Amino acid sequence: MSQQSWLDEALRESRTAFVRISSDQRIVDAVGDTRPYLGKSAERLVGRPLEDVHALHVRFGEKITSLLAGGGGGQAASQAFAKGTCQLQGLADGSVVARLSGNLASARDVTDRLADRLPVMVAYVDREACFRFNNQAYVDFVGLSREALYGQPVSSVLDAASYDKIWPKFQRALAGEEVRYEEELALRDGRRIFFKVNYLPDVLDGEVLGFYAIIQDISEYRAMIQLLRDVHTGVNRTDISTRATVDMLLRDALEYLDLDIGIVSRIIGDQYIVHWAASEVAPVAPGDTFPLGATYCRLMLDEEDVFHTVAAGQDARINGHPCYQAFGLESYIGMPLRIDGRVWGTLNFSSACSRRHAFSDVEVELVRLIADAVERVITDDAAIQRIRRERDQMADRAMRDYLTGLPNRPFLEQHVDALTQVSGDSREVFSVAVLDIDHFKAVNDTYGHQAGDAVIQWLASTVSGCLREGDIVARIGGEEFVVVVRNAVAGEARRVMERIRESAGAGTIRIRDDLQLQITISVGVSEHADGETYAEVFHRADRALYEAKRHGRDRVCMA
Ligand code: GH3
Ligand code: MG
Ligand code: MG
Repeated sequence: MSQQSWLDEALRESRTAFVRISSDQRIVDAVGDTRPYLGKSAERLVGRPLEDVHALHVRFGEKITSLLAGGGGGQAASQAFAKGTCQLQGLADGSVVARLSGNLASARDVTDRLADRLPVMVAYVDREACFRFNNQAYVDFVGLSREALYGQPVSSVLDAASYDKIWPKFQRALAGEEVRYEEELALRDGRRIFFKVNYLPDVLDGEVLGFYAIIQDISEYRAMIQLLRDVHTGVNRTDISTRATVDMLLRDALEYLDLDIGIVSRIIGDQYIVHWAASEVAPVAPGDTFPLGATYCRLMLDEEDVFHTVAAGQDARINGHPCYQAFGLESYIGMPLRIDGRVWGTLNFSSACSRRHAFSDVEVELVRLIADAVERVITDDAAIQRIRRERDQMADRAMRDYLTGLPNRPFLEQHVDALTQVSGDSREVFSVAVLDIDHFKAVNDTYGHQAGDAVIQWLASTVSGCLREGDIVARIGGEEFVVVVRNAVAGEARRVMERIRESAGAGTIRIRDDLQLQITISVGVSEHADGETYAEVFHRADRALYEAKRHGRDRVCMA
């Protein structure tokens, strides 16, 4: 900005103009906007005789003439007129300068108009804590007219407890201190708002006349910070469930967006299934299922991006669609949730009523951010489920025999130990049988190891098929098995094992088309005695097995 244009601007803002009149009563200089006072622009004034400039000549001609006659230098005069004040000053060269300025009322008008354009609320509060000025933003926010507010105490807009809270700050401002604070305050109309406030004392000649209050509603900002914090902690927290995390995100977003219903849906084929939901007003719950074609999300999925409206009834994209007939939601914002590049479901927020304002770019970005967070939570959750499944599978495998799928020795010992630890009235009587294939080495040697394996597998399923539910059969090594016959004394267990021995001996094991085998087994059985360990009862059964072998095999012996 050039020196001249800066000066012009400053003069215009301050509503001041200067005119210099030479000793021969001509206008020789003029700056500033002279039109409001003299009816002509500065350029058009220069060079004219004083008497041509009517407004100047008629009102102040006499005074100017007397100052010029006095020789200028240091003499001054001042005269008020309807539009302001004219100050006359004699200069050393004999000329006279007229300073024309607007009156206070019109100067105030300028400041007020400027204040009205500010996006923040401005109020002037006097020593009695009453409003002396409220700008347009303030008036709009409070919802009362400027006239209604003028002269009213500040306590007329704030609720009593909030007013008590800020009263000490008023006192500090009225004592001349600049005060800044952020506080949640309640208004008389029930709204609770987070304000950021600055009080600037108005000091004249050392006396505080009042203070300017500059006030910003930072509720939205605070809510956004809260939401961002929750998005961040939500996806990184491990101490709360996925469900609780998503619930927190949905509720934060509802508050921020000023809507009622938040849903994460799962889309499977043509079905829209509510996966998670948050709402104080609508009875929507996980598991609720709707035909996808009748949902707002159908429209959104067709757009493949964020889709929103705040007045569906007037929105040509929606008001003829089945979703509007089905749900009648006026406000809606939603976007797809994608996992591994494919649509998994949707995130959407809605309300039966119209929202006051269209969704802003910031709000759209926030919905995207929440969708990212939800996608992340879903992915993490799926990973956790997979790890759990794998861990369970591994634990299961550690307890099973790879060849037959039967429980192995550690599993057996763990379970039988549990049975042996109960004594007294609730003790369960059970028997342990040890079972071994006769001359099995010969099978391996003659037909190969694979044939041997097939025999072991066949026997495993034959024995399993002969047992009652609750009985346990485990492969404890090579071609040796242990059977725990539950709720059975020795005699009953022997009958069970005889049946197994007969089945094993009667069966034909088809190894290949040209190879069928038959086997026999030997068994040792012993009943568990109260207070005995598994190792003790096993040891006795194993000795009985040895006896069975010694007496010619293919038999059951007791010990
Ligand atoms: P006995 O009648 O005295 O029991 O004679 P046997 O030949 O069965 O003698 P033993 O029980 O000592 O033989 C065990 C054989 O089982 C030795 C080994 O070759 C075989 N074996 C052990 N584990 C496996 C296996 O997993 N697969 C196959 N195919 N053979 C196995
Ligand atoms: Mg053996
Ligand atoms: Mg054997």
